[in-house]
Amino acid sequence: MPVSRLGRRVLVVLGLGVSLPALLLAVLGVYLTLRISRAVEEESTRYNTYLAQQVAQAFETELMVHLRGSIVTAETAARNGGSPEEVARALAENVDEFLAPQLIPFTQLADFTLLLVDGQPLLFSPGSGPRSGQAFAGLLLRGRTGDVIGAGGWWLDPRKFLGDHLTSVIHERLPSNPRLYGGLESTRRLSVELLGPQGNRLGIVRDPESPETARIAPLEGPFAGFSVRVAATSSAPVVWAGRFVTIEIVFILLMALTIVAATGFGLRYTIRQIELAQLKASFVSNVTHELKTPIALIRLAVETLEMRRITRPEEAEKFLRSIARETTRLSQLVDNILDFARLEAGQRLFRFERVNVADVVNDAIESFRPRFEDQGFQIDVDVPETLPLVRGDARALSHCVLNLLDNAIKYSRARREVRVVAAARDGAVQVAVSDRGIGIATADQSRIFEKFVRVEAGLVHDVKGAGLGLSLVDQIVRAHGGRVELVSSPGEGSTFTLVLPALAEEVPRTETRAQTGS
Ligand code: ADP
Repeated sequence: MPVSRLGRRVLVVLGLGVSLPALLLAVLGVYLTLRISRAVEEESTRYNTYLAQQVAQAFETELMVHLRGSIVTAETAARNGGSPEEVARALAENVDEFLAPQLIPFTQLADFTLLLVDGQPLLFSPGSGPRSGQAFAGLLLRGRTGDVIGAGGWWLDPRKFLGDHLTSVIHERLPSNPRLYGGLESTRRLSVELLGPQGNRLGIVRDPESPETARIAPLEGPFAGFSVRVAATSSAPVVWAGRFVTIEIVFILLMALTIVAATGFGLRYTIRQIELAQLKASFVSNVTHELKTPIALIRLAVETLEMRRITRPEEAEKFLRSIARETTRLSQLVDNILDFARLEAGQRLFRFERVNVADVVNDAIESFRPRFEDQGFQIDVDVPETLPLVRGDARALSHCVLNLLDNAIKYSRARREVRVVAAARDGAVQVAVSDRGIGIATADQSRIFEKFVRVEAGLVHDVKGAGLGLSLVDQIVRAHGGRVELVSSPGEGSTFTLVLPALAEEVPRTETRAQTGS
């Protein structure tokens, strides 16, 4: 019994009410994650630009520190009023790592360029001719009166100087204010690369990881043409933030999927529960009717017999048969309800023993014979002489066959033919009950084995039932390790087959093959 259209709509709205916000939140989560990752990348790029400039300036500072250290004696000589030769000698004493000293007289200072490094003037000039590729770097020298008398300095190989000093520059010359981008500490997570005029690598501190955020700053003064490239390393926040983005997006999407799936399952479960509640309600009314009808018929027959209005013995016989038939029907219904209740409560215990299915089938047919005869059914029984035994509960199996026979009668119309065939096939004992009745539409064929389910169309409307029979048959046969097969087409009839696993033994039939017509 399907849930009403309005009910379904309400449930769908509820489902969308949960799923859509979940999906929207997921989209927002993905957007924010991408946005944050982008912001971290931009920040990192900015920081790399800043740091590249700082490193470039730090090389100039490093040079200045070395020049200041080396020029002290020449400076002293100049201040003391020493001759140019004395000053030049003092310069030559401290060549240190530089290539060659040079004293530039005041009159030639205009040929040199001045660069302020940490507020102090640094004179420089690129070399040419034999000094090509080299650069001059020097400081102003003052005489006894404090006037500039010229400049003293050295020729140097910028490539060598930069390469030799890369590590000390990174470790000693960078700004160390920790409030400024984490200060020196944060450079440990960065790769610093020194590039030559052709962009070739002259030296590197740590390997770069995130090329998108790498930034280059040019060096100046005697190092013009060289540059510094700063990029993130694998331990930089931008790199691990980038790695988490994918994981986080997958995580968010999985969460959204879980919510949507859980809502879907929840809705399906709710619909099933509502359907079950509706089925239970109709079950109560069906059962009441099922109980009332035989009771009314029995009472009518008993009252008629009690009034002794019946004169002819055949008539009395007819009423007695009616009482017997309705009593059987009543007890079968009560059996069904009790069995169903026990199975539902998990209390139904089967007493398994070796069962001869042929006996079970014949007994069931015999107990139904009066009903078949009364209602004008032709019954064709084909049970072989020998059948393998099955391990089962004879009473429960008989209950299955009785339910199938009952349905065959209930759902037959003009063509009142029932055929019961038992056979051993593929290691199983099969019992097939066929009728030429109203049949079952393909769409309903699996549903009818569910509890309380009755087909709501056509002729079934005027046939009463509780919707328990097939559900019981199915549960019992499954408990025996078997299955129920159904072949049916509307208007043609149905064949229900119980397939039960056979034991290895075979027994000869106690009774002879029965073939009866009425
Ligand atoms: P009930 O017969 O009490 O309704 P069942 O569980 O025995 O309950 O059967 C469920 C439904 O399956 C029936 O309501 C009927 O629609 C359909 N059905 C069962 N057996 C047959 C049959 N032999 N022919 C046609 N329809 C059948």
